[in-house]
Amino acid sequence: MKVCNKCGVNKENTAFCKNKAKKDNINTICRDCIKAYHENNKEQLSIASKLWRLNNKDKLKVTSDSWYVNNTKVRLEKAKMWKMDNPDKVALYDIRRRRSKLEQLPEDANLEKIASIYKEARRLTKETGIQRHVDHIVPLSKGGLHHEDNLQILTAEENLRKGAKYEETI
Ligand SMILES: [Zn+2]
Repeated sequence: MKVCNKCGVNKENTAFCKNKAKKDNINTICRDCIKAYHENNKEQLSIASKLWRLNNKDKLKVTSDSWYVNNTKVRLEKAKMWKMDNPDKVALYDIRRRRSKLEQLPEDANLEKIASIYKEARRLTKETGIQRHVDHIVPLSKGGLHHEDNLQILTAEENLRKGAKYEETI
């Protein structure tokens, strides 16, 4: 049994959170009081954590960047394996993609320019050995157009990052 420093009630040890910094390994304030404190200070606490995030942007960016780098290879490898295991699904996906490219091909699109972007991506892939994709800046699935102004060449890695970002915003 222990008396809570805040409410002054004598409570069972289990009514206190563990705290290794304390002599008896439990908090001086009971769980109920801590819960009440969080409830009453919700707004201030969320401002504090927002401020921390703002002041530590670089730290957060570094963590997520290294996370991406470490996971990109694994994810690319997994995607490759999945494609090998699911050739019928891949074929269906390709057909759908080709269809949406046709449907989202605006009249003023320059087919020669589009073809040259794909050609350039293939050339860069061959020359550098780093896989390049032609990416729709606004994805076809988001209503983006198959138009030269909506195309960019990305490395497979950048493309994967972009995909992950889109997933996050959904
Ligand atoms: Zn208490």
